[in-house]
Amino acid sequence: MQALWLEDHKISLRDIPQPRQANEALIKVRKAGVCSTDLELVKGYYPYTGVIGHEFVGDVVEAEGTDGRSWIGQRVVGEINVTCNQCEQCLSGRPTHCEHRTVLGIINRDGTFAEYTTLPIANLHRVPASVPDEMAVFTEPLAAALEIQDQIQVKPTDRVLLVGAGRLGQLIAQTLALTGCDLRVVARHAHQQELLKARGIRIISEEDIKPWRWDIVIEATGSPSGFSLARKAIRPRGTMVLKSTYKGEMSVNFSSIVVDEINLIGSRCGPFEPALRLMELKQVDPTVLIADEFKLSDALKAFERAAEAGVLKVLVES
Ligand SMILES: [Zn+2]
Ligand SMILES: [Zn+2]
Repeated sequence: MQALWLEDHKISLRDIPQPRQANEALIKVRKAGVCSTDLELVKGYYPYTGVIGHEFVGDVVEAEGTDGRSWIGQRVVGEINVTCNQCEQCLSGRPTHCEHRTVLGIINRDGTFAEYTTLPIANLHRVPASVPDEMAVFTEPLAAALEIQDQIQVKPTDRVLLVGAGRLGQLIAQTLALTGCDLRVVARHAHQQELLKARGIRIISEEDIKPWRWDIVIEATGSPSGFSLARKAIRPRGTMVLKSTYKGEMSVNFSSIVVDEINLIGSRCGPFEPALRLMELKQVDPTVLIADEFKLSDALKAFERAAEAGVLKVLVES
């Protein structure tokens, strides 16, 4: 089958054998989305060799066992962390932190820019019929956005600042808007601002951000300048949620964070079922992020397009 292979900081289309994993479902990929993590993998920020891609929607074509067989023919999305169910993290209810995990298209597990992929049945979620493929493919990043509300309470009376309105930032903005909080978003590109305005989400310019005023600040730029803006905005005893990874090491004045008694929350993968539900109920619409779509045979072009400044989601059709 055709697949997008990453090796030595280079991606190329390869013909590789169809995957087969004992006790896992074989999934025919319909669509996969290019995410910032994919672009960073190509730049070599994490060591990985294999098929990349982790945001997808597809159909189960093979599965074993009585339970497994009931999934054949189902349209599904899949959680990306495959866990051991035996380590201390797994047994303590922190499966996304499994000490032996593999991660779809990111750590020791071939991903989804391919005709087929595999995942354990336990990772799969059925997609409601009313959620089209181009929406379902956003389930993973939308779940990551919802992880914030799984981690901290966002009160309707909270003043919340979101720094960054890129791929993940847009989804965070849409989900935070549902809480009724007093939300403002720092968005750099005109198109990002338009998407927010169209949903009635208010934007704020950097100059208008008063320091020490915000109860919750979400940092979704992954840049040192975004972090320092977020740090400046948060009030004493406020909560800063870090929603992006940072390239290499970052220099931070931790004494001021101690003195201001800031809560720092790292935030990664989130719950799939609420993400699917919000899309089914049309309370969020991630499809407004779609900038382009390419065939798998043009996946290299898809990556070039996704790397352009201000481009949000690029999809690849298998
Ligand atoms: Zn991603
Ligand atoms: Zn484990």
